[in-house]
Amino acid sequence: MQQADLIAPATQAAAAVPQAQPQLLRCPCCGGAPTLRNSKAQFAEDTYWHWVECSACGLATRYMAGAAERCIPAVATAWNTRTPASKSAAKDTAQ
Ligand SMILES: [Zn+2]
Repeated sequence: MQQADLIAPATQAAAAVPQAQPQLLRCPCCGGAPTLRNSKAQFAEDTYWHWVECSACGLATRYMAGAAERCIPAVATAWNTRTPASKSAAKDTAQ
């Protein structure tokens, strides 16, 4: 796996894959707002990498390449289950 190829600017590709935004929890590290991102894959036509990334600290899920309708729910689930649900619930109800 060539790591450098995976970290590509997503600015040009973002508008090409319109998708409903899934519900994403706050970043488990810093509490920042997560962003669903994508970037055109270089190995195949009409294929995109999808991942979720914290806009504040840069924490990100793994990259997943393929159909948006399959990848976006998968990376959203990966993001939302980074931290135990009980821990998130306790944090939400602390104040
Ligand atoms: Zn963060």
